[in-house]
Amino acid sequence: MNNLDGIIILRNHIQISVSRLLIDRDLNLNALNAYMRNGEGPMSSLAGVSAVGFITSALSKDPKWPDIGYFMSDSGVHKSLADDFTRILGLKQGVLQKYYGPHVGSDANFVLVMLGKPKSFGELKLASRSPWEKPLIDPKYYDHPDDMKTMMHAVKFIVNLYEQTETYRKLGAKLASNPFPGCENVEFKSDAYFECYIRHLTMTIYHPSGTCAMGRRWNDTGAVVDSQLRVLKTRGLRVADTSVLRVITNANLNPPAILVGEKAAFMVRRHWALQFVENISTARESPNLSNVHN
Ligand SMILES: Cc1cc2nc3c(=O)[nH]c(=O)nc-3n(C[C@H](O)[C@H](O)[C@H](O)COP(=O)(O)OP(=O)(O)OC[C@H]3O[C@@H](n4cnc5c(N)ncnc54)[C@H](O)[C@@H]3O)c2cc1C
Repeated sequence: MNNLDGIIILRNHIQISVSRLLIDRDLNLNALNAYMRNGEGPMSSLAGVSAVGFITSALSKDPKWPDIGYFMSDSGVHKSLADDFTRILGLKQGVLQKYYGPHVGSDANFVLVMLGKPKSFGELKLASRSPWEKPLIDPKYYDHPDDMKTMMHAVKFIVNLYEQTETYRKLGAKLASNPFPGCENVEFKSDAYFECYIRHLTMTIYHPSGTCAMGRRWNDTGAVVDSQLRVLKTRGLRVADTSVLRVITNANLNPPAILVGEKAAFMVRRHWALQFVENISTARESPNLSNVHN
């Protein structure tokens, strides 16, 4: 536990889906032809994600480190889409059905917008001493006001990309014009509208990290593991996943998880190799044992 009050700091990325950037029909005979001849076009997209991009918002202090990620998905508004998303995202019944309803049958793009460098962080607490009881998690999304500003910047950027650039204009792309249920009372596409939309649709992107932060034992009450990933004040226990990160990376967490895992494996191997070397040198120095190893 990395805090004196028994509260663990939890870092995570959040995402929203900018839904239904409608485009003119592009799944047509030309698309089929392009795919059959050259393996190109809309039908070549992998698992629905056709592009990934990163940008730096105006609020980022370091322009070299993008703080927004985009995952672009070309998916038609099919009949069961609202039900599927409602189930997957755990949303209230009826909301997406109302929102998507008028556009069933249209071609569309959906863009997942990820806040890559959130300034807010959540809290995780043990509910009791029982290991079987689930912990209490308060993600505290948008606790820091800059996160909402950055997310609004990100959403406006993507809407402009679709509505203002030549490439997408040629496809007739536009944000579907019926407001999100619950946001009808504010002007469509105003700051208040985007904030309402973002607050309704924000969810985790499943990148929890930081709960076993690396640090120094003597001057850091937030530290759980040392630089060798060993749990402080405990013997024989290391942590090898992204919970050791003090600061969340600005992109997806699988590569850092692999990196920490590889590094941990290396450190464990080196630890035991050094023991072996030490044993050999001790044996060499001791006449009684030297024969055993020679
Ligand atoms: C829905 C979803 C989508 C994601 N998409 C992406 C993405 O597109 N790109 C990306 O980079 N990251 C993505 N991530 C994040 C990525 O999956 C994780 O960062 C990564 O898998 C973490 O790796 P890990 O080895 O630390 O943990 P895990 O992959 O969770 O592995 C832990 C393993 O330990 C096993 N285990 C648990 N308890 C025990 C036990 N008591 N004894 C033995 N074994 C046990 C589990 O079964 C599991 O196999 C996504 C995550 C989710 C949930």
